[in-house]
Amino acid sequence: MRAGTQPARLNGVLTHPAGRLLRLTSPADKTMELIIPELSLVLLVGPSGSGKSTFAHRHFRSTEIVSSDRCRAMICDDENNQIVSREAFELLHHVVRQRLLWRRLTVVDTTNLQAEARRPLIDLARRYHYLTCAIVFDVGEAVCQQQNAARVERIVPAHIIAQHSQALSRALVGLDKEFFTHRYILRSRDEIDSARIRRIPIREDRRDDRGPFDVVGDVHGCLDELLALLNLMGYRIDMAPDHFGIPRPRVEPPPGRKLLFVGDLGDRGPNTPGVLRLIMDMARRGQAMSVLGNHDNKLLRKLRGNNVQLTHGLTQTLEQLEHEPPELADAIRDFLETLPTHLVLDRGRLVVAHAGLREDLHGRVSPRVHSFALFGDTTGETDEAGLPIRLNWAADYHGAALVVYGHTPTAEAWWQNQTVNIDTGCVFGGRLSALRYPEREVVSVAARRRYAEAARAFLTPTPPQGL
Ligand code: GDP
Ligand code: MG
Repeated sequence: MRAGTQPARLNGVLTHPAGRLLRLTSPADKTMELIIPELSLVLLVGPSGSGKSTFAHRHFRSTEIVSSDRCRAMICDDENNQIVSREAFELLHHVVRQRLLWRRLTVVDTTNLQAEARRPLIDLARRYHYLTCAIVFDVGEAVCQQQNAARVERIVPAHIIAQHSQALSRALVGLDKEFFTHRYILRSRDEIDSARIRRIPIREDRRDDRGPFDVVGDVHGCLDELLALLNLMGYRIDMAPDHFGIPRPRVEPPPGRKLLFVGDLGDRGPNTPGVLRLIMDMARRGQAMSVLGNHDNKLLRKLRGNNVQLTHGLTQTLEQLEHEPPELADAIRDFLETLPTHLVLDRGRLVVAHAGLREDLHGRVSPRVHSFALFGDTTGETDEAGLPIRLNWAADYHGAALVVYGHTPTAEAWWQNQTVNIDTGCVFGGRLSALRYPEREVVSVAARRRYAEAARAFLTPTPPQGL
């Protein structure tokens, strides 16, 4: 890949220094596929006359496009009236903000050539935990001048287009340093004409999956208890030999049901490889999904080759993996790479996150969403046992979605508002629990023994007021 801001073509794939790819679906037909997550704020970037509005209307719903020209017209009936620019951009930012609150895909159709023009939009995207996508129209000044001169509705003065073209060169440098999760550069009319947009849901978005689900708390390598719990919930368990002839449990859910995990699948317990093998096998068959727990994340970082501290049961996991074929560690790494920070299911009525999730972070993506979902609402301080101090976000939760989580062992499933903590501390000698959804019934099995010492006592649910 060539350094700098220019993308380079490599084996039919247009790569960008920031690592984003513009795929040519077939190198022969030069079709470009622009992958756009549905949780995106899309900025069109290009001189006047470069074809932004035409492209926007071809590929997006008209309600998804927020255009500065249109905002000018809404204020004073004249798309060209530059005197109302300030008000037009205020209106544009207001509409963008509202759409991000509603989690709608939004396309900003304005030149976006100046860093100062892009900054408030990028700030909005960060504030609402959005992804950002830039589509740059770099077709050359001559094409812009020619297309502008041929316009029927209005013609922008030629010197303005010349200024815009110069600004585009600077913008291409600036865009690289700014917070864009996806960047695409269209370099000719042909590329613009052949581009296709592929919208993809973020991996957290499983709204269309209606369940029913069984959501299992922190397993931490307790395979025996997991099998006992699944058996209790009517899952069929057969022992079948694997490639090496070693008998492994194979699990079949009751018809229609799916298994979900709140994460922390491994560490501390006696059989992390066995638990992961079982869940990965069910996930491959579309019968199980898990969100990422903090332990899963740490194991993933270790398997990626990062330097991580070998504490909290990770040492046992690595020892257990040494007795396994090396391919298993690779398969585990690949599996953990796919896990979402949280899951939004059943039309948004059910949210699963390892340490829980505030309502305004549901179905969004950002470092904050990641840290909240994995570690909870921590203060950054630690208690006398050296554990992070956690705030009780659930006490302040007033969302409509039921949030199922784990992370902090509690003596029994703890319901607060529309949340339930189902980590009943199996690995510490407590119980392994699952929430049946939509039944809202908690099923538990006792730990066979205490596999690890808890650093602090389990939380005890406080009775609801009035009891
Ligand atoms: P914007 O200023 O970047 O939004 O550019 P527009 O989308 O408004 O396009 C400027 C003019 O060029 C309009 O009159 C369009 O109809 C025209 N135009 C846009 N794309 C093409 C194209 O691919 N081919 C031709 N011939 N005209 C185009
Ligand atoms: Mg336009």
